[in-house]
Amino acid sequence: MPDTLEPGLYIVATPIGNLGDLAPRAADILARADVLAVEDSRVTAKLLQHIGVRRPMLPYHDHNADRVRPELIARMTAEAVALVSDAGTPLISDPGYKLVRDARAAGIAVTTLPGPCAAIAALTLAGLPTDRFLFAGFLPSKAKARSDAIAELAALRATLVFYESGPRLGAALAALAEGLGDREAAVAREISKTFEQTVTGTLSDLSARYADSPPKGEIVIVVAPPGEAEAASEDDVDAALREALTRLPPAKAAGEVAKATGADRRELYARAMAIKDCR
Ligand code: SAM
Repeated sequence: MPDTLEPGLYIVATPIGNLGDLAPRAADILARADVLAVEDSRVTAKLLQHIGVRRPMLPYHDHNADRVRPELIARMTAEAVALVSDAGTPLISDPGYKLVRDARAAGIAVTTLPGPCAAIAALTLAGLPTDRFLFAGFLPSKAKARSDAIAELAALRATLVFYESGPRLGAALAALAEGLGDREAAVAREISKTFEQTVTGTLSDLSARYADSPPKGEIVIVVAPPGEAEAASEDDVDAALREALTRLPPAKAAGEVAKATGADRRELYARAMAIKDCR
């Protein structure tokens, strides 16, 4: 393997706890990059020490990103720049998307080194549906903004994933129970670390558990999708169809009622024709 990397931007995922989770290819890129764009050089220095390398580091975080980005983009034309965050996948509740956007706009090659991400790891622990999920990041800390944010998500038929901190956990769970109803949920804590723990239960159980005993460490909350709406009764469907037929032709009436009740459109059409013939 050549010592030098092709110039460009390398997005490197790093462990969320256990340093042994650093992928060999990620370690190789970190060892050979010309410069590492890092959130906190003290955190990344520990990772570099773990793999026995020293590389130049340039801070890239929320407070200096706009100022530093043009310099980083300029360097990428001739050098390999690796972006890492303190833990996990850069860009996921971490800085980086504008760097990728500007690199692409400048025609610079962008490569990702996929790896740990707390949201995905928590989904694998929660035992809740994973076919559709929405990552909602951190909820706002002020009560009104938080309940507004939760209300926006309430009707979504997807598992919800939130990042949270110990001191805010009880309030967040109580607000989720209030805004979403008493759904099944999981609190995954300190994933891949010594005191890893996943607690499952309803939102109200979890909120009671953590109300007066905020846990230590890093936390992901996973919340089940809303339960299936109760199926409309046959009488309700029939009544809706009769009403729709007073305004619409049978095909349109069947379509409207199918959409509203989830009943089968073809069966509704047949029924609509039968009602119409009896009139
Ligand atoms: N980019 C990271 C990722 O890919 O997961 C997330 C960065 S975000 C600033 C940090 C938040 O991720 C923490 O507050 C916590 O909610 C979650 N987190 C990070 N590491 C975790 C871990 N080991 N266990 C549980 N949650 C974790």
